[in-house]
Amino acid sequence: MGAEIPFRESFYLGLPSDFYKAAQPSPPPAPHWVVFNERLARELGLPQDADTPELLNLLSGGAPPNGSSNVALAYSGHQFGVWNPLMGDGRAVIVGEVAAPDGHVYDIHLKGSGPTPFARRGDGRATLSAMLREYLVSEAMAGLKIPTTRSLAVAATGAPVFRDGARPGAVLTRVARSHIRVGTFQYAAGRDATEELGPVRVQALADAAIRRHEPDLAQAEQPYLEFYRAVVARQAGLIAQWMLVGFIHGVMNSDNMAISGETIDFGPCAFMDSFNMRQVYSSIDAAGRYAYKNQPSIAQWNLARLAESLLPLFHNDEATALRLAQEALATFPSLYAQNLAAGLTRKLGLRPGDPDNEQVIALLWKTLGETRADFTNFFVRLTEMAEGLDVAPDETWAPFMEPWRAALGKNDKTEALAAMRVSNPRIIPRNHRVEQALAAANEGNLKPFHRLCAALQNPFERAPGNADLQAPPKPEEVVHETFCGT
Ligand code: AMP
Ligand code: MG
Repeated sequence: MGAEIPFRESFYLGLPSDFYKAAQPSPPPAPHWVVFNERLARELGLPQDADTPELLNLLSGGAPPNGSSNVALAYSGHQFGVWNPLMGDGRAVIVGEVAAPDGHVYDIHLKGSGPTPFARRGDGRATLSAMLREYLVSEAMAGLKIPTTRSLAVAATGAPVFRDGARPGAVLTRVARSHIRVGTFQYAAGRDATEELGPVRVQALADAAIRRHEPDLAQAEQPYLEFYRAVVARQAGLIAQWMLVGFIHGVMNSDNMAISGETIDFGPCAFMDSFNMRQVYSSIDAAGRYAYKNQPSIAQWNLARLAESLLPLFHNDEATALRLAQEALATFPSLYAQNLAAGLTRKLGLRPGDPDNEQVIALLWKTLGETRADFTNFFVRLTEMAEGLDVAPDETWAPFMEPWRAALGKNDKTEALAAMRVSNPRIIPRNHRVEQALAAANEGNLKPFHRLCAALQNPFERAPGNADLQAPPKPEEVVHETFCGT
């Protein structure tokens, strides 16, 4: 019974009891594997033959292993800027954690395994296509070397879920460095405010987060402030990485931002094809709050909400605490800008630290904005030109080409190529390919899904057999809208 999996008791059980509720998954009638991530299983140190019937039973929401402590976590959050004091894992449970060979501890979390006490209106279930979408995109992020929660498996339940019609249901196994969100801190602060005992829950949560993510800080003079600074720095790095590959998260609510700095919650997320600063795909983001260009400022807004929650831990004196928080938060724009500039410098093969780079980068944005070039293939083409292949720029790129070539020429050729080849992916999960793979999977044909997953594991490799996956959509194939899939 997953006995061979060395599950440890979830560390959330060490938190005050109002952070979680015991939640049993609901056993599915006829579970079967749809996909099992052997590579990730190995990375986690799970046994080679992990995809056993016992594990299928566990990861589809069947009987939990002896001694397992299934919990659903409580959290609050700002959804599209609107405060929601009580959310939580409505359709998800953490079944335990594993200590992996890389030295980190990972939560093992089932999504779509039935309603928990936090499911208010929802059925606690998930569709196969939404779970496969999360699997595909989270593993694509991992392939792109972007911090992300991972997907260990998708198991079909054999029971339908109803989302404008009956759809196949499934359970996803999510693997994460932790499930502490900005919204978890907001929840802690909100609960503390109802009593007069001081920031007891915020402190318990911060101590747990430090133990998990920043153990070295436990001895620091100001561990909470240092912890906050570390979260700010991780987010600045993460959002820059999203921007560098054209990733649009789509639902950057404060409950969907992880303290670990991992990308979390793959609902309506999408990669843009044709460049557009204002690009939005999510069907529920009519105002464009989470548009591509807004992602850095939204991240900073969420980090301000985190600072508000942590404030009493920064200093006893409120004004001092506020000043410390503001100073730490104020580092975000420059940290983000540094990460972005460093990433663009690599993508363009420029010499690090050259004062002319800024001007080339400004021209890059201008050219992309004016031409609406395919964001991914623009950089692939530059890489191929730098390699000396017989490819030509589009005529419309002309204003950019001369300054770029001049700047490229100033860099060492080997170094320029090395940087470009590992920064400019050839394969991203293009929306139309994702939709095609999911549509086929819904009809029982998993071939396109597996093919796309395999290609996304090595997105920087030249793979002539995958030319169709690299091509932008034809006009009739363009996906304009993505859906949350809740
Ligand atoms: P999300 O949009 O995935 O960030 O989810 C927002 C909130 O809705 C979370 O508290 C989820 O647990 C909850 N939720 C989403 N889908 C369901 C569902 N099918 N059943 C119960 N709760 C759900
Ligand atoms: Mg969420």
